[in-house]
Amino acid sequence: MASYTPMIQQYLKVKAEYQDAFLFFRLGDFYEMFFDDALKASQELEITLTSREGGGENKVPMCGVPHHAARNYIEQLVEKGYKVAICEQTEDPKHAKGVVRREVVQLITPGTLMEGRGLTDKENNYIASLTSFDDQTFGLAYTDISTGESRVTLLSAHFDEVLNELAVLSAKEVVVAQSFDGELQKRLRERDVLAISFEDNDSIGDSYAHLLKDVKQNKLEQTASRLFNYLYRTQKRSLDHLQPVATYQIHQYMKIDYYSKRNLELTETIRSKGKKGSLLWLLDETMTAMGGRMLKTWIDRPLIDRSQIERRQNMVETLIQHYFERQDLREKLKEVYDLERLAGRVAFGNVNARDLVQLKRSLLQVPLLKEILKGLADEEAFKVADELDPCETITDLLEQAIIENPPLSLKEGNMIRDGYNQQLDQYRDASRNGKTWIALLERQEREKTGIKSLKVGYNRVFGYYIEVTRANLHLLQEGQYERKQTLTNAERYITPELKEKEALILQAEEKCGELEYELFTEIRELIKEYIPRLQALAKAVSSLDVLQCFAQVSEERHYVKPTFSDERRIAIKEGRHPVVEKVLNTQEYVPNDCFMDNEREVLLITGPNMSGKSTYMRQLALTAILAQIGCYVPASEAVLPIFDQVFTRIGAADDLISGQSTFMVEMLEAKNAITYGTQNSLILFDEIGRGTSTYDGMALAQAIIEYIHKHIGAKTLFSTHYHELTVLEDELSKLKNVHVSAVEHNGKLVFLHKIKEGPADKSYGIHVAELAELPKELIKRANEILQTLEEPAALEVSVTKESIIDQPLTPQAQVKKETKNEQPSQLSFFDEPKEHKKQDLSSKEKRILDHIKELNMLDVTPLQAINTLYELQKKLKG
Ligand code: ADP
Repeated sequence: MASYTPMIQQYLKVKAEYQDAFLFFRLGDFYEMFFDDALKASQELEITLTSREGGGENKVPMCGVPHHAARNYIEQLVEKGYKVAICEQTEDPKHAKGVVRREVVQLITPGTLMEGRGLTDKENNYIASLTSFDDQTFGLAYTDISTGESRVTLLSAHFDEVLNELAVLSAKEVVVAQSFDGELQKRLRERDVLAISFEDNDSIGDSYAHLLKDVKQNKLEQTASRLFNYLYRTQKRSLDHLQPVATYQIHQYMKIDYYSKRNLELTETIRSKGKKGSLLWLLDETMTAMGGRMLKTWIDRPLIDRSQIERRQNMVETLIQHYFERQDLREKLKEVYDLERLAGRVAFGNVNARDLVQLKRSLLQVPLLKEILKGLADEEAFKVADELDPCETITDLLEQAIIENPPLSLKEGNMIRDGYNQQLDQYRDASRNGKTWIALLERQEREKTGIKSLKVGYNRVFGYYIEVTRANLHLLQEGQYERKQTLTNAERYITPELKEKEALILQAEEKCGELEYELFTEIRELIKEYIPRLQALAKAVSSLDVLQCFAQVSEERHYVKPTFSDERRIAIKEGRHPVVEKVLNTQEYVPNDCFMDNEREVLLITGPNMSGKSTYMRQLALTAILAQIGCYVPASEAVLPIFDQVFTRIGAADDLISGQSTFMVEMLEAKNAITYGTQNSLILFDEIGRGTSTYDGMALAQAIIEYIHKHIGAKTLFSTHYHELTVLEDELSKLKNVHVSAVEHNGKLVFLHKIKEGPADKSYGIHVAELAELPKELIKRANEILQTLEEPAALEVSVTKESIIDQPLTPQAQVKKETKNEQPSQLSFFDEPKEHKKQDLSSKEKRILDHIKELNMLDVTPLQAINTLYELQKKLKG
């Protein structure tokens, strides 16, 4: 290090403290990066990599961005999940002895954005902190520093639950102690774009002790303190807008794990990861950004407390009944600016006069909102109205102080109204008087000289001047005018009097600018005092916004108010899938009923592919979620239990992030449901067991159903293409078969999307393939193969009703039962028949067996499997 130049040495010293961040090192008009940072940044930002002499043996790699364009580059890096440390010159180079002093003034990280394109209006940007107390106890705190909202909870659960919470929050960054378990850190890193940061200090700091006033438990204090210590250490500026930390418990809400959220496409779709096509997209009729964020939080955390749900419902009902008032509310809400983020920026000191005008306009809507609500003559609406605090002091102050259209800049003046401050008025008078005098001067000079074209003008370099065209120069009296500037056609002059006035005007203007800035800062400080009230108002407005949004959607889409059953009864008439219904425009959505009670706990759904099985299942889950967030539901009548949790295993959720095979994910999801599910849960299993070989999968599917039926008793929808499972209805008293009907019309399949009682009678796979327009030849062949398979000789491998339920047995199965009676009979067909021990096989048979062993069942389609089977059988037959 000694051989490096002093500047590079300084760089290395600062960099040592910010190893995990890009260090933007201020050099003149540029932020430069060196060494590895330079190599990486040149790639990530696609900027040129250069190098410079640094005193060492080799040149030092370097790349840089102009400081005025830095914001864009910083945002790009932060969006990719990196951190950026901004290192500025903190002394005037003129006074520096040796290398100018430089210090990191702010660490910008994915979780600490206050503005810019990394922040989406309708989404929160959370940073979390985690403290592990033992394997099963984790403290989790989080805050959105752009809104100041903070919460903390203790999770007495497996680390999965912690990951789940982080996923629900879409936290961008998580702060842990250096000593946080390495294996768990690895699991955190496996999460999408989640930056990890470290903070060892978890003792309460004075500067934020007030934020912890409602937190009574040591572990929670420690967790929240870790977060705040990190923020105070890295942000190095006022965080006065942070709200006191609220404690919460996850079991206050309906639990929907990460996989299920994704499967149900609550806030984003599986495929595009975008909002469009999600439940959030369907519901989002909010008028404010704050309402949009709250809607997302509500969807992420449906309620389980009946009275809370009913409070929301009642307000939605009132708003539905008052169409005109609701439209009025919507109009007014549209004018309300993002008060929550504004409060944050007031605290940070980066609001301008335009923001304050917007604040005023927003606040002016509040009395109007209250009036409309009171006009509804409804108890609940009264309560909502009471929660709206118009903060009149601020409105009055801003009304008096700030003009209607101020400039963006705070340094140019023209923000403060006349009459707000005497001193300012005096300066303004001086400047205005001076200007009037100058305007008069033009007239006087024209009269005096007789030059009609004489002008008095102003430019930045020369100040005020008198301009006379060349042709008229002879009319000027010698000695009275001092020449200042020569143009092609004219000369510009000044006079001592003019200069004197000019000095007065400019001085007054400068003073105006300074004073205006001072007054503005004063106003901003005054508003700071109101931050908690503004935040409370923001909450009240957001929730009103979401409730009107529920009313709007419910009315437009003809939803009904659900009622809740204490007997765990589901009675939905003409239910619809809210999103599919909206998307389908060519075809009418076919509504379906759903009835379940203590005698009908598990519905086994059969039916061809593409007939609507998974849509039906999702429909139920979405209906339950809509009901529990307080919205109406897409049905003509709906009675629902209050579910504590929803579990799903639906569709092929490719889990590339964690690098697990689809089947493994399937099993993990099943495990979640079976481990954590209760009688009050809803379980949706779509084609469980599909990811492995037929018998394997079917055996698992059956065992899972039996287990749920016997041990959990959760309301369960189970769709399957194993028709063989439908016989379970005879064995399991609370399981009922339903199927999605389809009819064959001229040899083609027509889906009716209608759920009916009883099992489906036939598998329509080949018809679906035909519908998908696979080559005719192939379809014909598949039909032939199917026929071969259905011939009696194939009975031994095709699973029949008899073989599954153990009564009455086919002759073949009978033989097996006698020879191998230690296995449960329904699985007997999985056993290798005794007479086929491998050592007795011919080499051809061995080859064929090896071939089968090597087949990767996850890689082949059912049709390929059938074809392979056919080929192998042909070979065996000789
Ligand atoms: P499956 O799970 O049986 O393979 P899906 O539930 O994926 O079938 O449904 C296939 C398609 O059928 C859906 O994309 C949807 O467009 C349509 N569909 C499903 N249910 C209905 C319905 N009730 N009314 C109209 N169309 C439906």
